[in-house]
Amino acid sequence: MEDCIFCKIVKGEIPSFKVYENDSVLAFEDINPISKGHTLIIPKKHANSLWEISEEDLTEVHLASKKVIQAIKDALNPIGVACLQLNGRGANQIVMHYHLHLIPRTNEEPELPVSSWEIKEGDMKIIKETADRISGAIK
Ligand code: 5GP
Ligand code: ZN
Repeated sequence: MEDCIFCKIVKGEIPSFKVYENDSVLAFEDINPISKGHTLIIPKKHANSLWEISEEDLTEVHLASKKVIQAIKDALNPIGVACLQLNGRGANQIVMHYHLHLIPRTNEEPELPVSSWEIKEGDMKIIKETADRISGAIK
């Protein structure tokens, strides 16, 4: 896609700090890292979101995430790694090219903002109704 930042990174038109690539995927450092080692994994072929990405590319991205998370563990010795993937403007997706964030946290770093939220008990009736709606829509 012409005006997509991540497609430009794939084509080498914008520089990036690459950590891994194969025929289908590219992994590189986020330029606004939440923590040291914040890495993005993308399919080389443009797809906006989880709704659009092909099963093959989704598989490749997630197989690469296993390789990269192991490298993050070996290189940085984190106490945890959050995997985050946003779909749509309402979920604060900023770059509309599918990407999986790997966000490590080392001992010296504060709690990750993306992995902590207030726990509030849900309404079981609403949870059940919603589960029924979603399960009824599975194709
Ligand atoms: P999201 O779309 O999931 O909200 O996040 C997009 C991510 O892409 C952000 O964390 C942002 O820092 C990162 N990002 C945006 N533009 C660039 C860029 O040109 N290069 C790199 N390496 N990361 C980018
Ligand atoms: Zn793209």
